[in-house]
Order: sequence, then structure tokens, then C-alpha cells
Amino acid sequence: MKSILVVGGAGYIGSHMCKYLSRHDYHPIVLDNLVYGHRQAVKWGTFVRGSTSDSGLLRKLFADYTIEAVMHFAAFCYVGESVTNPAKYYENNVVNTLALLEVMVEYRVSNFIFSSSCATYGEPVQIPIREDHPQKPINPYGKTKLMVEQILEDFRGAYGLESISLRYFNAAGADPDGELGEDHDPETHLIPLVLETALGKRPCIEIFGENYPTKDGTCVRDYIHVEDLAQAHLLALERLFNGLPGGVYNLGNGDGYSVKEVVEIARNVTGKPIPARVVEKRPGDPAVLVGSSEKAMDELGWRPQFPDLSTIVKTAWNWHKDNPNGYGG
Ligand code: UDP
Repeated sequence: MKSILVVGGAGYIGSHMCKYLSRHDYHPIVLDNLVYGHRQAVKWGTFVRGSTSDSGLLRKLFADYTIEAVMHFAAFCYVGESVTNPAKYYENNVVNTLALLEVMVEYRVSNFIFSSSCATYGEPVQIPIREDHPQKPINPYGKTKLMVEQILEDFRGAYGLESISLRYFNAAGADPDGELGEDHDPETHLIPLVLETALGKRPCIEIFGENYPTKDGTCVRDYIHVEDLAQAHLLALERLFNGLPGGVYNLGNGDGYSVKEVVEIARNVTGKPIPARVVEKRPGDPAVLVGSSEKAMDELGWRPQFPDLSTIVKTAWNWHKDNPNGYGG
């Protein structure tokens, strides 16, 4: 069984990845400092508590285990906070990732799968966004992801470290078996907030602006199921194991849903009224972010299993209903 180091494996996407890896006969070794991750979400493989800033610990991990590849999910991801506290983002998302890559080079581990983001594109000039769209991130979060993509290109040339950067659109949904879900503190993402409103934990969902140039004036996003993301990571990993070249791939469904449509779908799925009110726009929100994932389908053979937004919301709702306090009990 091949061991894969999953950095940030106690987080939302990382934990789903570990389940998926384990189902496909890989051994996940989770490295997570539990700053945002949840110990209860690590149910497969081996757990090591620690940070990528700890090079001694990284060296010990690479010395103790035969690690065939690294998947890196451990980044801070609050766009607003990245604007007010960029140092935190450059430190963790760039400096600590660089430290990890250096130890990989030292131990000759040469396969790396990186969680990048559609935030690297900035304000879109063309929809759907393809991988060759200009990359002009408009916030420090997006810049940190782009910087790592650029570091990876240089590491490929200089040290033979092969990598695939996966640019996610809006990750959503939960494990269809109900064992894992989305639990951020603070929660800022639309679908969990809508579902917390359905549960009565919040009085209403605030819709950030309704005069965008979209079908109903609210922002349009491309929601992609978290297990479909996991599927793409495994395909990317196997592409590298097969000796094929790395690169960058978008991961989205190619369908855009407005904020109001998401709320309406959630009302149908949950059978709850979900009060909503329109408030000020959130700074830095592009009107439309929808990606083309044709490249991932063609080259990786990626086939999303949960493309329908109602299904995505249903999987999330099942988890939220059963875990109203998240992993906290
Ligand atoms: N949004 C909203 N109310 C909220 C949270 C989000 O209207 O309480 C909107 C947000 O402006 C964006 C969309 O929902 O257009 C998705 O936001 P989210 O934070 O989930 O993901 P992002 O697109 O920022 O990565």
C-alpha cells in the first residue's frame, strides 16, 4: 500500500480525501496542526499532529515512512482576513509550503498535488474560465496560491519535483455516507450558512448584494462536490505515478448558480423557509466565477459524480442535520 502524506488532512477537503484514498487502497498519513482541522475528521490512516513550519518534524516523517507523494491542503482560506492580515497568509500559505517542498527535495519525494484556487484568476475577463485565462489575483489569498504555483514550476525545472495544481471553484457538499462534513470556525461559506439558517441556528441568511450584472443580480458561482474534488486528486496522483507530466487543472462543474438560486434550492431540499435579506456587497466578490474543466476531463479522465446542485446541497444537509454542532458533538 502506497503512503501518501496528506497535509491538512483534518480539514474539510483533506478529510474527504483521506477517506477516498483509503477506499482506493492508499495509506493516508495526515499531518495537521488542528488550528482549523478537526481530530474527529481523521478516521483513516495515520495521524500526526504538527505544522509544515516544523522542518524537524517533516524530516522525521519522510525518514520514518516511505512517502510516495504529498497532497497539500493546509492553507488559510479566508479571503477577507487575507486582506487585513496578509502576513499570516504569506507566512503559512507560501513560506511554510516552501519549507515543505524543500524537505521533499531533500528526501527525493517528487510527486506533489497542490490545492490551488480559482482565486488565482482574479476578476474574470472570460467565462467560463479556462486554465489559460490571465492570472491576476485581487487579494492576498489568491496571490499566495499563485505564488506557490510559480514556485512549483521552478521546482519542476530545477529539482525534478513533479506537481499538479488543482484550481478549485466552490467546494461544497459532504461525504454521501454522512461520516464527514464541512465545519469551519468561523463559517463564511454560503451553503453551510444557508443550512445553519435552515436549522434555526441563524435568524436569516444575508445575501451580499443584488445589483451585480447577473440573471437575478446576485453573484454566480460554480459549486463542486467535495468527493468529486477527491476523485480528481486521485486521478492527478495516478497521472504522476504513471510518469505523465504535471500541470494545472480547473475543477468545477461549469454551471453557474446565483446566491438566490442556492437559497431556493436549499429551501426545497430542507423543506424549511430559510429567511433571507439582502445586505451590502462583500468587497472583492467577482460577479461570476464559472470554470471550464474540460482539460481535467480530457487529460485526467475526471467524471464528477455529483454535478447536480440539489444533490450537493442534500449531502451537506444530511450532515448538518445529524451534526448540528459540527464536529463539536
Ligand atoms: N455569500 C452571501 N452570503 C453569505 C456568504 C456568501 O451572499 O453569507 C455569497 C458570496 O458573496 C459569493 C457566494 O455567496 O457570491 C459564495 O460565497 P462563498 O464565501 O461560499 O465562496 P467564495 O465564492 O467567496 O469562494
